[in-house]
Amino acid sequence: MKIKRISDEVHVVIGGFFPLCNTLVILSDEIAVVDPGCSVESLRFLLRKEGKELRDIDVVLLSHIHPDHITHAARLNRLSRCRVAANEITAPFFDDKEQMKRFLGFTPGHLIRPLWEDLVNERMYGALDDCKTTNIVKDGETFLVGGHSLKMRYTPGHLPDHMCIELVEENLLFASDIDLTEFGPFYGHPNSSIPEFKESIKKVMDGGYRGIISGHLKEPLIEDYEPGLRAYLKQFDMREEFVLLAVRGGAKTINDIVVNPIIYPSLTNVVYLQFEKWMIEHHVDSLIERGLIWKHKGVLSVA
Ligand SMILES: [Zn+2]
Repeated sequence: MKIKRISDEVHVVIGGFFPLCNTLVILSDEIAVVDPGCSVESLRFLLRKEGKELRDIDVVLLSHIHPDHITHAARLNRLSRCRVAANEITAPFFDDKEQMKRFLGFTPGHLIRPLWEDLVNERMYGALDDCKTTNIVKDGETFLVGGHSLKMRYTPGHLPDHMCIELVEENLLFASDIDLTEFGPFYGHPNSSIPEFKESIKKVMDGGYRGIISGHLKEPLIEDYEPGLRAYLKQFDMREEFVLLAVRGGAKTINDIVVNPIIYPSLTNVVYLQFEKWMIEHHVDSLIERGLIWKHKGVLSVA
């Protein structure tokens, strides 16, 4: 159980890698929990150290709709009757989990949808529970809690609803899934966007923050974050080069490319293969746009 103390009133409960995430906790005269995807036991441990309980939580704030970031939101709401705040894009998907599934590409009838639901229910249990947001915080707006200002910073690409959350007084940014993990950027849904993701990373780079807080690194606070973000940005180009090499090597379809996975080299779950496919599709689109490959009647070739 690991907790990173950022300041007297700001803490990160380390969840670490998917299917958990790091959870930011403001422990002041109000208690705010951002992205409750860490273990509930770890969160309870932190609160008890301060003489508080889970039922004392005042508000849960969400950075985006991914199950590993919203896992315990409904559970905490049931326990504490806390407010649930999210940005204007995330909120309707949190309120209606069928819409959430569609937003993530798992439309009714999609072959992988039941397997993805199993994965969520086994490893992020609670993420699909019914619950309603009580507050909407739009891009650029500030959410005040316990004397702390949390400002929403629209950073799409990972998903169209992804927002980083700025801790204004601390001049820190909870960067959520601009996470700087070695895995690299994740854009494994049909509505993810490589160009938007790159723009968002540059926006964070230029933010002038004292540090950024990763949603998944086990050492979550990165003060010298520029080199890490530059390396993170490079991963897009490296992956795209591998996709181009695959087409040059004779791959004619997305399925031909993912026979030798580029992004998940050791696939253990068919759901991840779907994510790999969607990510490769984004790179194929990008290569077509750059004029490096062609697609004719569904068949890829080198331009
Ligand atoms: Zn995410």
